[in-house]
Amino acid sequence: MADSTYDFVVIGSGPGGYVCAIRAAQLGFKTACIEKDPTLGGTCLNVGCIPSKALLAASEKYEEAQSHLGAFGVDVGNVALNLLGMLAHKDKVVKANTDGVAYLFKKNKIDWIKGTAAFTGPNTLSVTAEGEAQTITAKNIVIATGSEVTPLLGIAIDEKRIVSSTGALKLDAVPKTMVVIGGGYIGLEMGTVWQRLGASVTVVEFLDRILPGMDGEVSKSMQRILQKQGMKFRLATKVSSAQASETGVTLTLEPAKGGNAETMQADIVLVAVGRRAFTGGLALEKAGVKLDDRGRVATNGHFATNVPSIYAIGDAIDGPMLAHKAEDEGSIVAEIIAGQSGHMDYNLVPGVVYTWPEAAQVGKTEEQLKQEGAAYKVGKFPFSANGRARAMNMTDGFVKILADAKTDTVLGAHIIGPEAGTLIAEIVLAMEFGASSEDIARTCHAHPTLEEAVKEAALGVDGRSIHI
Ligand code: FAD
Ligand code: NAD
Repeated sequence: MADSTYDFVVIGSGPGGYVCAIRAAQLGFKTACIEKDPTLGGTCLNVGCIPSKALLAASEKYEEAQSHLGAFGVDVGNVALNLLGMLAHKDKVVKANTDGVAYLFKKNKIDWIKGTAAFTGPNTLSVTAEGEAQTITAKNIVIATGSEVTPLLGIAIDEKRIVSSTGALKLDAVPKTMVVIGGGYIGLEMGTVWQRLGASVTVVEFLDRILPGMDGEVSKSMQRILQKQGMKFRLATKVSSAQASETGVTLTLEPAKGGNAETMQADIVLVAVGRRAFTGGLALEKAGVKLDDRGRVATNGHFATNVPSIYAIGDAIDGPMLAHKAEDEGSIVAEIIAGQSGHMDYNLVPGVVYTWPEAAQVGKTEEQLKQEGAAYKVGKFPFSANGRARAMNMTDGFVKILADAKTDTVLGAHIIGPEAGTLIAEIVLAMEFGASSEDIARTCHAHPTLEEAVKEAALGVDGRSIHI
């Protein structure tokens, strides 16, 4: 194959890589993106954000039709699950999104190079596909190779009985019992999907709380609400072994601090204890690129590695493993390489858990503020006092706003409730502009909307919520 020379090459086509390639092309660079998988879009579009949200949306509709429409006076009779239809919906959504990236590449004249990239020097890569290798030369190379499942010692993932999130997106039957190891984002989202479809789900979490990165009140409330929905929790517990057989999995559980072991049976076990940066096969040593002590590509805060022509973004580097973080880094690094300035405020990266209800956060948690010894005020408003939430029969949860006690600047916001992931955007924007809780409180919010709960929480910072 012919050798090719580019201004800008991105390795990996996930949300970090494909956005970076598009921005680079917009800025006038001759750009290529190398992807080893058959479709574009990376973890997020193929086996992450998009398929999980397709199943969350579909399973939510099933549960709603089965259990919640009666309360609205809508009688739907017997509701049946068509699992194959639901999985087909997910596959269709994934294809529309991955095809969409291919279209955007064409539109922006980005070359999609199919194969696995390995460095041969600071400006050269060898790309191998189906046994054939080609050499790619580039002035600038961005590593956007993402992450992979963190394995759990002694537990072999076979993607049949013991699955990762990838296997949990395509089970061909609803398990009667499912044990989820890890009460984080994936455990709660995928556990929720299969519970709605009829599985009895137990979440085993090593720590004494679920969603460890979130505000303590939100995670407590989430546990209580999910328990009401039937999910079971074993906190401060570790799984020391899991043996799969034809008929199921036998797990051994122990208290996290040590103590007597017990066994448990499950049809399916989902391992969701985190993800780790993926740099396998890149031959980084050939270019001299250094990793940090956690195996991530080491960068300087502006995405530059220790090698001047090589940059890195997304799950492969430090920071929250979220698609929107990777996307923003992709745009910013292209702009930096083009000689523009770029900055990412990691305090303002929102996090959303797409369970029912959703949980969303931005900025500092109350625990972080306490630890920092910050003087802060709290405004809190429950959805049970919001007219629109009542009309929707969705009154679980609250909005909580944390503001500086002296300046009133918003320091953080934490929402659990209907559309929390959408509601948080208003507060992210407000914080981006350095708003005070008074600014949010004095902004006219349409009635009747869920957003009014945000305004009421902002009023609550000064002790003057109206509807409670
Ligand atoms: P990735 O999306 O992982 O893409 C990396 C790409 O690089 C892959 O396509 C890979 O094949 C390719 N690659 C790797 N090495 C090479 C090589 N040597 N040569 C060529 N190609 C290579 N985040 C959210 O913000 N919201 C969500 O709702 C959400 N849901 C998720 C649900 C699940 C089940 C999972 C697993 C993750 C979820 N995430 C979510 C996290 C999100 O998927 C990641 O943060 C995001 O995909 C990271 O983007 P990235 O571009 O850094 O890497
Ligand atoms: P996570 O970090 O969100 O949660 C892992 C959980 O497993 C934690 O609660 C941790 O304490 C627990 N844990 C760790 N070791 C354990 C052990 N040995 N036994 C029992 N529990 C253990 O990780 P995840 O859920 O695997 O998701 C991976 C990443 O993907 C997340 O960090 C997140 O950034 C991203 N993601 C995001 C979304 C979203 O934005 N909605 C959805 C899915 C995944």
